[in-house]
Amino acid sequence: MAWDFSTEPEFQRKLDWMADFVRAEVWPLETVFDELGQDGFERAIAPLRDEVKQRGLWAAHLPPELGGQGFGQVKLGLMHEILGSSPYAPFVFGNNAPDSGNAEILALAGTPEQKREWLEPLLAGELRSAFSMTEPGTAGSDPTLLATRAVQDGDGWRIDGHKWFSSNGSVADFLIVMAVTDPDERPHGRASMFVVPADTPGVRVLRDIATMEQPTEHFGRVGGHAEIVYEGVRVPKDSLLGVRGAGFAIAQQRLGPGRIHHCMRWLGVSRRAFDMLCERALSRYAHGSPLAEKQTVQNWIADSAAQMQAARLMTLHAAWKMDTEGASAARQDIALIKFFGAGVLHDVVDRALQAHGALGYSTDLPLEAMYRHARAARIYDGPDEVHRQSVARRILRGYAAPADGVPSEHVPARRAAARERFAGLLEAVTSND
Ligand SMILES: Cc1cc2nc3c(=O)[nH]c(=O)nc-3n(C[C@H](O)[C@H](O)[C@H](O)COP(=O)(O)OP(=O)(O)OC[C@H]3O[C@@H](n4cnc5c(N)ncnc54)[C@H](O)[C@@H]3O)c2cc1C
Repeated sequence: MAWDFSTEPEFQRKLDWMADFVRAEVWPLETVFDELGQDGFERAIAPLRDEVKQRGLWAAHLPPELGGQGFGQVKLGLMHEILGSSPYAPFVFGNNAPDSGNAEILALAGTPEQKREWLEPLLAGELRSAFSMTEPGTAGSDPTLLATRAVQDGDGWRIDGHKWFSSNGSVADFLIVMAVTDPDERPHGRASMFVVPADTPGVRVLRDIATMEQPTEHFGRVGGHAEIVYEGVRVPKDSLLGVRGAGFAIAQQRLGPGRIHHCMRWLGVSRRAFDMLCERALSRYAHGSPLAEKQTVQNWIADSAAQMQAARLMTLHAAWKMDTEGASAARQDIALIKFFGAGVLHDVVDRALQAHGALGYSTDLPLEAMYRHARAARIYDGPDEVHRQSVARRILRGYAAPADGVPSEHVPARRAAARERFAGLLEAVTSND
């Protein structure tokens, strides 16, 4: 019987160092990011990255033979909780999306040559990547509908399709593109993944889509979401990642850990918003008392604490299951945390923003940006509804409709059965009367 919620003291020391480092060195960069520009930002974080590498915390999501730490999902989760507190911290630790997930794909499915050409420079921070799956014309929540095609063309492949929301697509050196290679196969065996260098003729990056997160059009920026047309894009046969038709299998392996990391990063954001909520509750005075003494605000604090605690335990449990039983055993737990965690993030940020009134709505605080980011969490990596559906379907597999249509807990039916079973006792009790 081993239910152990403690963290090894040695790893806890690493976490404590990370928490202090991110707060002291990374948080200040947030307020001058626009002034620094991409180049200035890269220069500012270069010495921080060196420090992270010296501490052995760089690209920790990968196994040791690929330059990572082989931490496993529980430790990575605890680390991401800290890195999530700032949108820039993952860049400093070499595990920012989508590069970290793409590195995992290359580590998982890449040939030694593909690893040398793409993974090694990606890990060294010399290249940027994007993951190009979602299309404007088909439902991203059901990727078996993908329309982008890759057909064999001489010794290689020709890719044609229209993608959007390829994060970092406008600054990427290469894109991992999901395309249908085998339309007549079963739905989850139709697609394959390809590594496509961004300068391949026929790759046309149309724009970075203006979003809630970045409402003004701004092309060629890290964090942008690109719309890309692939028109007669010819790539050699060794651009195929893994075996033909394995696109979904690879995506599934990448998405499991990625969702755990997202959920833990959301807890880092939630914690920061929660701290602001509590600070504001104590400092703002209205209608005869501080906000801290209003029951509604007390409810916000208590509900937020309970939700964060629940999401944290659920996420770490999913991570533990992945470490101990494997990705497939953790699928239901991961679907649960994906929609539950996104809801907790939204609720906590929303309450903190509300408690600050107009100040919370303004850009004088990071809450409005957190709120805009939080909204996307309910959509990317699968919308809430799809995860709920998947959880419900799995749960329902453990149930069957009663043969006679009568609910198995129906009291009159149970009473009749109990009367029959206890007839002797009941008769004795009645005759004693
Ligand atoms: C910030 C951000 C970053 C992203 N980054 C990337 C990226 O790097 N690469 C990439 O390829 N994609 C990326 N995406 C795209 C993302 O993966 C898709 O938006 C997502 O999969 C949903 O697909 P869709 O937008 O086509 O919505 P649709 O599939 O059209 O779904 C629309 C809505 O329909 C509803 N719905 C769908 N299915 C069901 C159901 N079964 N039951 C009930 N309701 C349902 C849901 O409410 C859903 O939100 C990103 C998206 C965002 C917002």
